[in-house]
Amino acid sequence: MSDQLKDLKPEYDVAVIGSGLAGLSCANMLARSGHSVLLLEQHHQLGGLAAWFKRKGGHIFDVSLHGFPVGMIKTCRKYWTPEIADMIVQLKGIRFDNPQFSFTTTFDREDFTRILQERFKIPQESIEGFFNTARDMNYYDDQTMTIRELFEKFFPGRDDVVRLLMEPITYANGSTLDDPAISYGIVFSNFMSKGVYTVQGGTDKFIGRMQDELIRNGVDIRTRCPVERIVIEDQKVSGVVTNGQVIKCRAAVSNGNLLSTIHKLVGDGHFSESFIEEARKVRLNNSSCQVYMGIRKGEKIDHVGDLLFTSVAEKFDSAMLCSRNITSRTFSIYYPETRPGSDMYSIVSSTNANYEDWANLPEEEYRTSKEELIESTIDALDKYIPGVREKIDYAEAATPKTFQRYTLHEHGASFGTKFEGLKISMGLHEQIPGLFHTGSVGIIMSGWLGAANYGVIASNDVDKYLRS
Ligand SMILES: Cc1cc2nc3c(=O)[nH]c(=O)nc-3n(C[C@H](O)[C@H](O)[C@H](O)COP(=O)(O)OP(=O)(O)OC[C@H]3O[C@@H](n4cnc5c(N)ncnc54)[C@H](O)[C@@H]3O)c2cc1C
Repeated sequence: MSDQLKDLKPEYDVAVIGSGLAGLSCANMLARSGHSVLLLEQHHQLGGLAAWFKRKGGHIFDVSLHGFPVGMIKTCRKYWTPEIADMIVQLKGIRFDNPQFSFTTTFDREDFTRILQERFKIPQESIEGFFNTARDMNYYDDQTMTIRELFEKFFPGRDDVVRLLMEPITYANGSTLDDPAISYGIVFSNFMSKGVYTVQGGTDKFIGRMQDELIRNGVDIRTRCPVERIVIEDQKVSGVVTNGQVIKCRAAVSNGNLLSTIHKLVGDGHFSESFIEEARKVRLNNSSCQVYMGIRKGEKIDHVGDLLFTSVAEKFDSAMLCSRNITSRTFSIYYPETRPGSDMYSIVSSTNANYEDWANLPEEEYRTSKEELIESTIDALDKYIPGVREKIDYAEAATPKTFQRYTLHEHGASFGTKFEGLKISMGLHEQIPGLFHTGSVGIIMSGWLGAANYGVIASNDVDKYLRS
């Protein structure tokens, strides 16, 4: 037996497969409700895409800590601990720079209303109408209106306004103008309520505190444990297989990719034909490229904003945002305040990307493309931090292949699936009692807040099942 599986209990109430923010929140709530919980993570570190890594020169890089809505404070306070919630602070310097406009904002309703009125000369009624419509959208509404139609209704012919309202959300969850308006309305309104928030202390400390809390609540955590299969007996979940060993459990919650959960961990034969037909229609969301740049110890950079949405493209175009010919980059600038006590700066550039553009490159071309990505990104950053190249002593790039390798997400999907994935994710346990899914799906259950909240929602369903 591998060391990872020493001293297991003979049976658990529930196995949670994967430790992304959804898996962690689900495991925590189930343990708090008194269930025996086994958390199995294939990587050596918890957090999934809420990831960080250390490199020579004293650098720590955060992968997905660019910003989330204020709701994360309430979620952490209610479902985790006050200490975790207290780590969350607002980012005030959100900057846009593109051929259509350039300014800094606090990215909330009040400031956006002012900007739309003063800079874009939009009448107050249209702004109010748009904000109220977006805020009042919910999952049970009509889902046929697209984001494009929503914008056309309030800001006809205004591609500059569409860019302002859409580009940051496309970065945050990969949505396009053809996605349902409801997926936009929910995410946009979450951000607009009070702006953009981050974690002071870094992803490492945040996930570390979650890990401590899980242990306090009795969750049995095992890393380096890839789940190969979910065992179905008598048409219901009876166990999971990891490192070649069967572990008994009454329920399994997969926090892995929705499509691999269905097709690989369970197998199509266990579901109804019509369910599999619907599952086959679920589209994955796009992936990402990132460049991590570490500033040499002892060097400083001026405050140029926290989150910079930059683009050289003439107009907003979601297909162009994913292109390997990169025109748009979001820079997250991490000042020493990110990790109080540290004197280090780091910068992470993120772009949306298509898996297919990177997956099939011959090895040499893949390597040189990554080098080019690093070089062109540093050139682009120089506009905002002149002379930055001389201050950088470490740079590394990630591509969709990197995200696939570390999370096992099919095609390195950064934000799970498109909208149709939510119904399939929520419907698993109607197909197979004891089988649940949680994690980024359907755009609205994506990002740090969406994933954590979906973990709690799934835990309620699992709890009901275990008690039934
Ligand atoms: C580049 C990038 C930037 C982002 N920036 C932001 C941001 O600024 N703000 C924001 O809110 N969101 C951001 N996101 C999105 C956010 O990080 C994710 O939506 C969220 O963290 C996903 O959480 P999750 O619970 O769905 O699971 P994931 O984080 O995807 O984790 C799934 C976990 O399951 C594990 N796993 C998978 N299969 C198995 C298996 N078979 N056995 C065992 N373990 C398995 C994986 O190893 C992983 O740990 C970003 C994402 C990316 C890629």
